[in-house]
Amino acid sequence: MKKIVSWLAGLALTGAVLVAGIGLFWFFGSTNYLLTGVPVLNYHQVNDKFQTVLTMTPADFEEQMKYLHDHDYHAITQDQFAAYMRGEGSLPDRPVMITFDDGYVDNYEHAYPIMKKYGLTGTIFLIVDLMETPGYLTWAQVQEMGRNGMEFGSHTMSHKPLTSFDRQGVRTELRESKAAIESHLQKPCKYIAFPEGEFDDMVMEETRAAGYEYGFTVETGRDFPWDDHFDLARVPFFEGPDSFGHFYFRLNFSTLSSWLWRLHKGLEAREATRSLAVFVPEP
Ligand SMILES: [Zn+2]
Repeated sequence: MKKIVSWLAGLALTGAVLVAGIGLFWFFGSTNYLLTGVPVLNYHQVNDKFQTVLTMTPADFEEQMKYLHDHDYHAITQDQFAAYMRGEGSLPDRPVMITFDDGYVDNYEHAYPIMKKYGLTGTIFLIVDLMETPGYLTWAQVQEMGRNGMEFGSHTMSHKPLTSFDRQGVRTELRESKAAIESHLQKPCKYIAFPEGEFDDMVMEETRAAGYEYGFTVETGRDFPWDDHFDLARVPFFEGPDSFGHFYFRLNFSTLSSWLWRLHKGLEAREATRSLAVFVPEP
């Protein structure tokens, strides 16, 4: 009897250690996408001229792309991501999808040559009304990048949050941007990044009806096949005081990062807990 009890205790302990180990592995790191999901990296501007919260210097951007290349990460295409989300096929080791929002001209001038150097490709979400205006991409640049492995998606016509329009307005923003991108690239446009990450039920309905298949927000986290395909998290990167440290932490510990952000926001949202928010970092 005593033997059985100690045997059962041993089994329970082993099980607990295993479960805890898998839990820690899941939440705090690892590069096994089947366990931890696919990180969709999100950048904006890459240049030396501006210093806004959205700008990263080309030197820092290059350091990050070099890290991905040297550590055997693989930039996956839209089709590969879609197959993964449908639960089909398999991805290369350490998959990442690299994305840029807004369609800044510096994506062509700085980011694209750096990515090319390290054999990486990505998706740029275009604001169609701003194409061909100062600071933004031209269609010729988009087409050239498109011939060299870069892909594109919609960031709507005007970049105003879709929740600020009525149904007809949402429809126009979604459909006209999709049609413009498709006519310039001669390829279906299946991806959208919602301006400011804003959406509601009506926006979702219209996005689906317009023929999009995947929608990204600005929530931090990784993506799994069972996630809502129109409410997909990304891993945003900003310059900050320690660009590489920030990049390294978020790339490896995206789940922990998203946890902390949510906890911070949750505490901040209530009067009673607001003072506690400062104790929760937002790495
Ligand atoms: Zn944007």
